[in-house]
Amino acid sequence: MEYNAFLIKYAEIGIKGKNRYLFEDALMRQIKYALSHVGKFTLTKEQGRIFVEAVNDFDYEDTVEALKRVFGISAICPVVMIDDCSWDSLAANVKEYVSHAYENTHFTFKVMVRRADKSYPKKSPEIAADLGAELLDAFPELKVDVHNPDVYLNVELRTKGYIYSLEISGPGGMPVGTNGKAMLLLSGGIDSPVAGYMISKRGVYLDAVYFHAPPYTSERAKEKVVELARLVSKYSGPIHLHIVNFTDIQMAIYEKCPHDELTIIMRRYMMRIAEYLAEKNGAQALITGESIGQVASQTMHSLVATNEVCNMPVFRPLIGFDKQEIVDISERINTYETSILPYEDCCTIFVAKHPVTKPNVNIIKKSETKLNDVIDELMKKALSSIETIRVEQ
Ligand code: ATP
Ligand code: MG
Repeated sequence: MEYNAFLIKYAEIGIKGKNRYLFEDALMRQIKYALSHVGKFTLTKEQGRIFVEAVNDFDYEDTVEALKRVFGISAICPVVMIDDCSWDSLAANVKEYVSHAYENTHFTFKVMVRRADKSYPKKSPEIAADLGAELLDAFPELKVDVHNPDVYLNVELRTKGYIYSLEISGPGGMPVGTNGKAMLLLSGGIDSPVAGYMISKRGVYLDAVYFHAPPYTSERAKEKVVELARLVSKYSGPIHLHIVNFTDIQMAIYEKCPHDELTIIMRRYMMRIAEYLAEKNGAQALITGESIGQVASQTMHSLVATNEVCNMPVFRPLIGFDKQEIVDISERINTYETSILPYEDCCTIFVAKHPVTKPNVNIIKKSETKLNDVIDELMKKALSSIETIRVEQ
C-alpha cells in the first residue's frame, strides 16, 4: 500500500472574506512551484483544504520535503486513494492502511467519515461504526475514544475513496505572494539568509542584492552568495539577485574617510544602493540580517547611523536574536553549511582595528562630504554595471 495523494491543511487565521482567495491562489501557486521539481501532480481546492494527487510515480520523501517548504501550509496529510469503494474493498483498505501507517497499534481512535457520494449504500455514521468494528476485530489492542482519540482516522467517499490520519507539520506562515516584495541585503554570512527566510515566511516576495569587491573578494565568494540565494529560493520562490560591484566606492571611502568610520560609511552606501534597487524593482522595504550588538557595526548607535540614509522601512527580523538562535534556524533551513564556507566577504577586507561603536550621525555625514568630488560618478558607475541573475531551486 502506498500514499498517492496529500491533503494540505492551512491555518485560516487572518484570511477573512475577500482576501481568502488571494491567500488560496498564492498557496496553490507556491505548491505547484515546489512540486514542479518532484513530479506531476494535480491540485484541487475545496472547503478550506487543498488536495494534491500524484499523476505518475513520485518519490514520497522528496514530495513531503518540498511541501514542508511551502509557507502557509500548517499540515500535510499523506493520503491513500482507492478506486474501488465498495464496502468490502473499503474495509480491507482501511485495515491495510492502519497496519501500513502504524507500527504500533496501541492507541485510541475515532473514525471520521465524509460522504460526498450520497448514492453510497451506507450513511456516514453507519460507515464509521462498521469500520470501527472491523478495525477492533483486526487490531485487538486498538481502543475507541470518541471524545479525545489519539488518532482521527478519516475516510472520505467521493468518486474515489480517501483514507488518511497522519499529519506532518508544515512550516506555517503565509504563502509567498500575499504580502508584497522586499529587497534582501544578502551577504555570504549566516545571518542574512535567515533574515530573508523569515520575511519570506510572512508571504513576502524577495529580491536580493549582494555587494562584491573584486579583486578583494573572490569569484568563489560571489558563487557562495548565489548558492545561498538558491537555498533561500527553495522556500521563497525565484529570487532576482542583483550583484553590485562595490570596489571603487569602497576604495574611495578607504582613501578619503577616517578609518574607524569605514564600516559605517560603507554600510550607509550599501543601504542607499539597496533602496535605489528596491524602488526600481517594485520592492517596498529592505531586509538585513542585523542583530543588536552582534558586532561594532550593529550597536544601537551604529544601527541608527546606518538607518538614517533610508526612507523605506528596514526589516531586521533577527534584531533580538542571539547568534546561537540564528545558527539553529540556519541549520534547520539548510543554509548553515554554505554560510560557513571560508570565503572572505567585502566587509572583512577593509575593517578598521578599532571601529567606532558609538558613531555620531553628524560626524559621519561630515566625513562623507570628503567623497563629494567622486561619489556621484562612482555611484553612477556602480549602478550601471549591476549584474542581475534569476536564482531558483
Ligand atoms: P551576515 O552573517 O548576514 O553576513 P554579519 O553578521 O556578517 O551578517 P555585517 O557584515 O555587519 O553582519 O552585515 C550586516 C548585514 O548587512 C548583513 O546581515 C546583510 O544583510 C548586510 N550586508 C553585509 N555585507 C553585505 C554584502 N556584501 N552584500 C549585501 N549585504 C550585506
Ligand atoms: Mg557579513
